[in-house]
Amino acid sequence: MWKRVKDRIARLSLLRSLRVRIFLLLVIMGIIPGIVIRVVLLHNYEERAVNVRISEVSNQFKIIANHLIHYNYLQDTSSEVINAELDQIATLYDGRVLIINNSFRVIKDTYGISEGKTIISEEVMRCFKGENITYYDSEEGFIEMAIPIQRVSQEKGADMPVQGVLLSSISTDTIELTINILEKKAFLLEVVMALLILATSSAVSYFLLVPFHKVTRAISEVKEGYTDDALSVPDYEETEHIVDAFNQVLVRLRTLDQSRQEFVSNVSHELKTPLASMKVLADSLLMQEDASLELYQEFMTDIAEEIERENKIINDLLSLVKLDKTNGELNISTVDINELLELLMKRLRPIAQKQNIEVVLESNRPVTAEVDEVKITLALTNLVENAIKYNRQNGWVRVTLDADHQFFSVSVEDSGVGIPESEYEQIYERFYRVDKSHSREIGGTGLGLAITRNVILMHRGSIQVSSVEQEGTTFLVKIPLTYSK
Ligand code: ADP
Repeated sequence: MWKRVKDRIARLSLLRSLRVRIFLLLVIMGIIPGIVIRVVLLHNYEERAVNVRISEVSNQFKIIANHLIHYNYLQDTSSEVINAELDQIATLYDGRVLIINNSFRVIKDTYGISEGKTIISEEVMRCFKGENITYYDSEEGFIEMAIPIQRVSQEKGADMPVQGVLLSSISTDTIELTINILEKKAFLLEVVMALLILATSSAVSYFLLVPFHKVTRAISEVKEGYTDDALSVPDYEETEHIVDAFNQVLVRLRTLDQSRQEFVSNVSHELKTPLASMKVLADSLLMQEDASLELYQEFMTDIAEEIERENKIINDLLSLVKLDKTNGELNISTVDINELLELLMKRLRPIAQKQNIEVVLESNRPVTAEVDEVKITLALTNLVENAIKYNRQNGWVRVTLDADHQFFSVSVEDSGVGIPESEYEQIYERFYRVDKSHSREIGGTGLGLAITRNVILMHRGSIQVSSVEQEGTTFLVKIPLTYSK
């Protein structure tokens, strides 16, 4: 039982090979038609040969039946001519001929054993009614015929009385012999054909799949790191499609790998900078043997600032990593966006006031939407914080909320330094800053917009920036009112 199951599994796994399938298909298509043609042709030949034999013999017997009438054989069987003719035809067709007269008595048997006997069989009776009877026994290999002996009428359609019956059985051995010979030859031909088909199928199935092996080999080479080039296997359109798709994946993987490396080196660099500053501050304090308390306080304030900065970078990094890790996992609830923005502005207003920047919220309509409240607050806070950070003294920030039947939009406008058009795309990259020293000075980590864009994309929304340098910047965020996965 177990062995049978195992065998079946092995057989199935063999069928999973495309090469085996192509091979089997070719074999089946090559061999089966041959067998069908042989069987049909031989059967047709047999039918035709038997029909020809029947019509040939029945013609001969009809002539003899005429002779029998002519020589009055049914009354007198002594005619040498007729007897010789009957014996000759019996020998010619390797059969037996019986002549029965109208009292159902056998008056002639070419075998000479049934003469004088009476035969009242169904065929004889039907034949006496004028019917020609033919029956072919393919199993035993003979044809049986019963032909009425009657005078040929001069007028068409007029029935002449049946005076006797010519009963015969002739062998079809010669036909069978021919069929046997043909069968043997056809079989031999089939075996030769089958061998040829097996050989060609095996070769064709092998060569057809060569390009696929090439693809596998090329992919393995990439996997093992032998080549950095794009693959090319142009033999078939199909392999080209596979390779194209693979090359695209390869490009994506390489870009990902590169951006991961960049990210790691950026992170280390960003984390090292505050540490380096702290070390310089601490070292210079230690070098001064009699440093005053004020100097200590001043340096320690600077060190605390650097710690604060380091802390901010780590916090931003953690939120970004968390966003990446929980990609798609949003804590969706129905949120009043007007209220969310009001709260957000209330928190940021004191920071703006330090630079005497006026912050206004314009709400065109009440908006509620299905969003992750914490994440959206984080995203929008970053935008408003930037609008304050990259502003000028006595400037302004205007936040506008609007909605249509599908989306709500928040635009954050400022009167700040602006962003050059060439930087529109890069500002969303991690650690990217337009003006590095300025951004550092005001405590930027370069991660804010990366976080914002991630959150907005998770909500299936969009973010756009437009800006005029030294005049101001506008960020426009659009987010669907209802969340769909
Ligand atoms: P950062 O922490 O440095 O602010 P962000 O990712 O939030 O990092 O922003 C990236 C860079 O884009 C900033 O360093 C700044 O140069 C530029 N930027 C962002 N928002 C504004 C804005 N409202 N006006 C001018 N420049 C901006």
